[in-house]
Amino acid sequence: MTSAPRRTSRSSSGALPLEAHRLLLARYGPLGWWPAESPLEVCVGAILTQNTAWSNAERALGNLRAAGLLGDARALLALPEARLAGLLRPAGSFRVKARRLRALLRWILARGDGDPRAALRGDPARIRADLLAVHGVGPETADALLLYAGGHPVFVVDAYARRVAGRHGWRDPGEDHDRMRAWFESGLPRDPRVLNELHAEIVTVGKEHCRPVPRCDGCPLEPLLPRGGPLPLPAATRRRAAPRAGSATRRGAGTGRGRSRAR
Ligand code: SF4
Repeated sequence: MTSAPRRTSRSSSGALPLEAHRLLLARYGPLGWWPAESPLEVCVGAILTQNTAWSNAERALGNLRAAGLLGDARALLALPEARLAGLLRPAGSFRVKARRLRALLRWILARGDGDPRAALRGDPARIRADLLAVHGVGPETADALLLYAGGHPVFVVDAYARRVAGRHGWRDPGEDHDRMRAWFESGLPRDPRVLNELHAEIVTVGKEHCRPVPRCDGCPLEPLLPRGGPLPLPAATRRRAAPRAGSATRRGAGTGRGRSRAR
């Protein structure tokens, strides 16, 4: 699998993420992700939104909030797993997510004495490696935790980012997660606010324009298209980006554009 851009765009490759951010910011304004009241809530939401729309994760979060369980990692972990799973039911795959959430909570307790910010403090590469060893935490979830709960300057590569990068010929859409993340990050300031916004912007443009059949007319990223229009996505990437029970991503704060899985 190659990691080289599939076609050279009119801008130099390294400047593209920032150029995309400028165009998307001009269209959407600040999106203000992640919609959570605390770093612990971000962590819980990051597990619950895996493979489902954020609206479903939100309903499960509402159950936890109503039960007074979102303020304390220790209290949440003390809940019997079956009871926790029942509260997570609206998020789908609720037994799996209960196990995954309990694994992440144990990690937060072990590393940060229950404080997610403390658990996520330090060198992001080392913390990412640590997180990836936690049951149910994959690269996208780890990076979302690092950025949105830990405040680290990390770009979150998801199906929308792959779709946009692939259709514009910036990267091979099936590229290894870390290589694609490094490419986005190398073209952006090491500022978590910018990385936060660009991820939110790409999800938003993915939901509004860069759908399975792209709607390029009027898309804020239309000026960055290669000559000849969007490139076709390889079948494997189309399958990866297609809606399926249990793969996805989340959130969208106060914009009415709440995040969901790529579709
Ligand atoms: S809809 Fe078209 S212009 Fe917009 S991001 Fe997708 S490929 Fe680019």
